[in-house]
Amino acid sequence: MKDFALIGAAGYIAPRHMKAIKDTGNQLVAALDKFDSVGIIDSYFPQADFFTEYERFDRHIEKLKRQGRDIDYVSICSPNYLHDAHIRFGLRHGADVICEKPLVLNPWNATALQEIEKEHNKKVYCILQLRLHPSVIELKKQVEAAPSDKVWDIDLTYLTSRGHWYYTSWKGENEKSGGIATNIGVHFYDMLMWIFGPVQKSTVHLHTHDRASGLLELERARVRWFLSINYEVIPEHIKETGARTYRSLQIGDQEFEFSGGFTELHTRSYEHILDGEGFGISDATAAIHLVHEIRNAETTGLDGNEHPLARLPLAKHPFKK
Ligand code: NAD
Repeated sequence: MKDFALIGAAGYIAPRHMKAIKDTGNQLVAALDKFDSVGIIDSYFPQADFFTEYERFDRHIEKLKRQGRDIDYVSICSPNYLHDAHIRFGLRHGADVICEKPLVLNPWNATALQEIEKEHNKKVYCILQLRLHPSVIELKKQVEAAPSDKVWDIDLTYLTSRGHWYYTSWKGENEKSGGIATNIGVHFYDMLMWIFGPVQKSTVHLHTHDRASGLLELERARVRWFLSINYEVIPEHIKETGARTYRSLQIGDQEFEFSGGFTELHTRSYEHILDGEGFGISDATAAIHLVHEIRNAETTGLDGNEHPLARLPLAKHPFKK
């Protein structure tokens, strides 16, 4: 049984990590969050120690180590811009690290972590759960089996809904989350590059507070992509089903729908890591480079190569004039 510590225990994604720790037969020993609304811990590990101050958490982990009880893994569920600092904390305490996506916001943060990983002889794993999605794995096999000079035309559409709270939280701040292409798009860019090869050219048509869209020319695909967190963008026939999220890849005339199965992959990710097969820093790097580039790209506006939904009228920011 492995001992885990977890950072960011009060947040949205933390329960999936707690469940994954439990499902894989391991235990959560200690957790940290600045916010103390963490009753959810009782559903999984009522004996875990909990801290709201980093220094006390650090002292506790150190004390356990002195008592001969090393933490094996630190799981990181904190805001994106804190990941690298929290990863260093785990490595310095002699633990392997399991970190949420995006591993870091900038390519140079990843390079620095690779050096620290070597210094401590420990591993950093990233949650790249779409690579474990059965339909995505099947699609990758189909692409690999096709003639190597085939280039696919793809429309990636990811429409989800976030309320006004999003813009008040760290997720609405570009310096903290990276903006929506980084925070939400990273899953899809990673998946597309994993299946269709590296980026040859990236164009960003638009990138506002609630949507982003562009064209990604990969080795084996030309992808018009559109991401949105604005409920109003979701087509009526989808809204009528009660859904608030829609994920689709249109590959030629084939619709590859993967709205289901997206949120149940944390346990699978943990199994994969504990089996010694987890995705490391080098696996996450291509997508980190791309989101950094997209975040800093000058938007071109519509040029005829855009995803059809990019032509929708833009929305006003709920708070900014
Ligand atoms: P969240 O805001 O709900 O949770 C973040 C938590 O971190 C909060 O409880 C906050 O109080 C805590 N926190 C902030 N600063 C801290 C600090 N200095 N020390 C300790 N705790 C601190 O966000 P979330 O949606 O749970 O996202 C957390 C991470 O998970 C992000 O990196 C996000 O990108 C990722 N995420 C991944 C998926 C996925 O499908 N893999 C889905 C959602 C979020």
